[in-house]
Amino acid sequence: MLEFDNSYARLPERFFTKMRAEPVSAPALLKLNDALAAEMGLDTGFLASADGLAMLAGNSVPDGAEPLAQVYAGHQFGGWSPRLGDGRALLLGEVTGPDGAHWDIQLKGSGPTPYSRSGDGRAWLGPVLREYIVSEAMAAFEVPTTRALAAVSTGETVLREQRYPGAILTRVASSHVRVGTFQYFASQQDTDGISALLNFAITRHYPDLEQGDALGFLKAVIAAQANLVAKWMGVGFIHGVMNTDNCHVGGLTIDYGPCAFMDAYHPSKVFSSIDQFGRYAYGAQPEILVWNLAQLATSLLPLIDDNMDKAVEAAQAALQDFGPAYTDAWKEVFFAKLGLPDGGDTEVALVQDLLTRMAENQADFTLTFQGLLNGTARDQFVDPTAFDDWASGWNALSPDAGLMARANPAFIPRNHQIELAIKEAVAGDLSRFHRIVSVLATPFEDQPDHSDLQSAPVAQELVHQTFCGT
Ligand code: AMP
Ligand code: MG
Repeated sequence: MLEFDNSYARLPERFFTKMRAEPVSAPALLKLNDALAAEMGLDTGFLASADGLAMLAGNSVPDGAEPLAQVYAGHQFGGWSPRLGDGRALLLGEVTGPDGAHWDIQLKGSGPTPYSRSGDGRAWLGPVLREYIVSEAMAAFEVPTTRALAAVSTGETVLREQRYPGAILTRVASSHVRVGTFQYFASQQDTDGISALLNFAITRHYPDLEQGDALGFLKAVIAAQANLVAKWMGVGFIHGVMNTDNCHVGGLTIDYGPCAFMDAYHPSKVFSSIDQFGRYAYGAQPEILVWNLAQLATSLLPLIDDNMDKAVEAAQAALQDFGPAYTDAWKEVFFAKLGLPDGGDTEVALVQDLLTRMAENQADFTLTFQGLLNGTARDQFVDPTAFDDWASGWNALSPDAGLMARANPAFIPRNHQIELAIKEAVAGDLSRFHRIVSVLATPFEDQPDHSDLQSAPVAQELVHQTFCGT
């Protein structure tokens, strides 16, 4: 049994639509995240039982839960959508872990809602397994993220380019409040709504702030997001759809759609099939984040100061802090990857020089940094002397091997391996999916039996595009 608290359900009614999931015909458990369930204080015996499965499939509402679809808005690829919302997800309820941490439990793929627009409210197996693998890998990299508690198959098919097996992901997170949630109320001049949302988000994510402290909240989100995107850069992660509705005010990675980890390093790398102009390319992520944060700032203006000029000035000053905050976070991430406890301009130039040489030499991002530890980095360069020239300056700084081992994962979820795991799973074989998940639970550990998962794709395995996870 689970004990539910439903604080979002106690917000004003215009924040959501209370409703039940649409039942599915033949649910089966594909994967349960026992470690996470334990962290959340959930009874894994219950989750794995028939009653637990019925809950994870949306076929039954557990006692005390008040399922609802949240409304939000957002800028998608720069274009304004006044109403998005949970079109294929339901917040089942909220639980409190043994450490007092609050968790939203959400079913993703649970059927249509008033926010589905033309969508069917469902998910197919591919995006569900992709999000499970990638979000749990992010957690293991210590990158803030929503988590995956379970994946179930529904026994039904979902029509996309063809018919695929249907599935539901149980996503859990400290909240599902997005920049776009603030934008929704701001666009309707609903200041009471923004105020209620602000206080909810402060309680959930920044409890040290006072209720109503809009400027403090804005600053806290800017700092958390600067830190988050610096961490993405450090693992070569490309989110793919950094729309404001996919930008979490708690600084978590959310909405794993056409995301991917880079193989060969290049700052202009893009994966999403719908990102024609490279808006969300790897190297563009910090800049686009500032754009998203400016949308949050705009939404908060009426609560920052009654005097609009003063509010704008304060918000702009807060946004100015993004640059230095991001640079500091980036330095910490990349200095650690080179085994340097700290540094200044010389070390920054050293990192940048390495990245430039990697881009020129199609060096694999993960294997290069990991190879700094075991002497194989130069093999990643078309012209290995380009690496050697750089390495002499780096070696002179006596890098700390222990620091590097903790900062450079040996394993990442390679896109071609995810695609293969999905293909095999659709054909009924989940063994690669399970193996990838288990290896990525300890991604910094050498696991020689699974060295095939470390390899960069050969030409015919390369995945150039990842399609939206709908
Ligand atoms: P995304 O870009 O995946 O974050 O989704 C953008 C919006 O489209 C959100 O409001 C989603 O709920 C909605 N959406 C995506 N896929 C579906 C679907 N299959 N059915 C209904 N709504 C969807
Ligand atoms: Mg989204």
